[in-house]
Amino acid sequence: MEKRACAERRDFFVVEEFGDIRILRYEVPAFERLPLREKLFVYYLSRAALAGRDILWDQNNRYNLRIRKALERILTRYRGERTGREFESFLLYAKQIFFANGIHHHYSMDKFSPGFSPAYLKSLLEAVGAGEEYPDLERIVFDPGYMPKRVVLGGATDLLAASANNYYAGVTQPAAEAFYRQKLREQGGRPVAVGLNSTLVMHQGQLTEEVWHAGGKYGKEISKIAAYLEKAREYAWDNLQQEVTDLLVAYYRSGDLSLFDAYSIAWLKEQQAPVDFINGFIEVYGDPLAYKGSWESVVEITDKEACRRTEILAENALWFERQAPVEERFKKREIVGVTARVMQVAMLGGDCYPATPIGINLPNSEWIREVYGSKSVTFDNITYSCHQASLGNGLLEEFAFSDEELALHRKYGYESGNIHTDLHECLGHGSGKMLSGVTPDCLKSYYSTLEETRADLFALYYIADEKLLKLGVVSAPEVGKCEYNSYIRNGLMTQLTRIQPGGDLEESHMRNRQLIASWVYEKGGKTGVIERVVRDGKTFFVIRDYPALRALFGELLGEVQRIKSEGDYEAARQLIEGYGVKVDRELHAEVLERYAALGIPPYAGFLNPEYTLIKKNGRPVDVRISYPDSFLRQMLAYGEESGR
Ligand code: ZN
Repeated sequence: MEKRACAERRDFFVVEEFGDIRILRYEVPAFERLPLREKLFVYYLSRAALAGRDILWDQNNRYNLRIRKALERILTRYRGERTGREFESFLLYAKQIFFANGIHHHYSMDKFSPGFSPAYLKSLLEAVGAGEEYPDLERIVFDPGYMPKRVVLGGATDLLAASANNYYAGVTQPAAEAFYRQKLREQGGRPVAVGLNSTLVMHQGQLTEEVWHAGGKYGKEISKIAAYLEKAREYAWDNLQQEVTDLLVAYYRSGDLSLFDAYSIAWLKEQQAPVDFINGFIEVYGDPLAYKGSWESVVEITDKEACRRTEILAENALWFERQAPVEERFKKREIVGVTARVMQVAMLGGDCYPATPIGINLPNSEWIREVYGSKSVTFDNITYSCHQASLGNGLLEEFAFSDEELALHRKYGYESGNIHTDLHECLGHGSGKMLSGVTPDCLKSYYSTLEETRADLFALYYIADEKLLKLGVVSAPEVGKCEYNSYIRNGLMTQLTRIQPGGDLEESHMRNRQLIASWVYEKGGKTGVIERVVRDGKTFFVIRDYPALRALFGELLGEVQRIKSEGDYEAARQLIEGYGVKVDRELHAEVLERYAALGIPPYAGFLNPEYTLIKKNGRPVDVRISYPDSFLRQMLAYGEESGR
């Protein structure tokens, strides 16, 4: 990636902030290097990635599209006063809804409450000739008790009745559960994902599924998606990728879920093409019963250089296993390195936009995962953008102890974070073995935290090993130092910003990070490996001896591997409950106070680049990429597009 001055770069990545949201941009340098054929493939896939947007809006709530169209109409046609408190509140409300793909917050699932009056909305609608919309919209916009939450996962007698999403109509939770239990019973050993692509409707006393396909519900959008996929197919990389596209189109046209499975298997096998994509009804988080897939799409381009790094690690997996500070009987004799593909996102759509995952592991079908495995991709231009945006937001300046620590992070922070992830994913999880007769359920609910701890320790131990320098995986010895600083700072302090006052750690990655950091802090305390320093009333954790810290990581790795290999439940319980769960209340309060003072919005999302097809004499000769700079303009452009 081209190097420019830091502050200038940050301006590129941070577009704007509103409410609890920051809007960022991501760059796609890999796109420029593609030959024309691949560029055209990306172009048509990106059209397909945008064509299903309205499906997601409707899935999230049945009023969403009507409200969005009313907002779009006001924003494009209102000629009255566009300043003042009420219009500002209206603008904020509109942006929040655009960001969340509907009237409920994308993360908390709570309905947004407008900061303007009903009379004001009425006047805006009347001014743009849409006054007749008002009576229907009044209750949904202004009554906080009406459809208050998009997805309710517990604490209600009927989760479907309590959830404001639009996957079920007139159906009770017991009726839906019985319906799908019966459907599952009719399946063999390789069941399709029953219910994934339909709305379940009670019609004249009968339960029926309105299937989402080209000839059924969402037919207009799905036909558009399929048409773009067929255009893209002409530029697919090889026969396998053509087959992937054909199967997906056949599934969209028929709604047949066994075709979706066939597509997923073909997609898994495609590991060579420089461009890859996801497009479909995939994740089920939006349905409290976890049957219904929300529509999403991602188009991605292989980052060759970054993939080379994970390949080198995989090729040397056995060396790392042999050298690990772990008892010989817990080591594997043979290692199959997992190659996680590193990609650059080229377009985000549906449920992946604007809030974006930083990696995806698919398919979700259990039996396909067992028989064919899964494909893991990480999006490094998204993490790069997040990293650039974080420079200068004040977080690091607040919690890093010295200028040296700051400078190290600015120079190597992005690299060290990526290498840590590579080591964790490609080597950490795959290392070590369980003694015969020991299975994961020996460790019960502690298994996943212990497993994440093990993978992190493997990464921490090796990130400071000179072998990585020799292999050309890291650029400098300071990368390890930088990662140690970040890990301790995050594990003991900054990750606590995500926990409510008085709360404990519940999520397994958060538990494992605190476990590791507080264990090495305690063990190394007496010999001064990590020192707790209070300066001007602020707490810092300062690493005084990096080689000794590495040795401690190694010691803990040996113990954690023993616990896993032997299935030692009691030791796992003591380690995790002792170090990974309880939060130091006083330190937590201090961290929250220091964090609040920085005013950093907690959620981020991304603007998409724009692709323009250049034709000469009716033939495509190029695709140009550009990076827009207004969130609202992109939203309005997408809205206009869907009207066509
Ligand atoms: Zn992991």
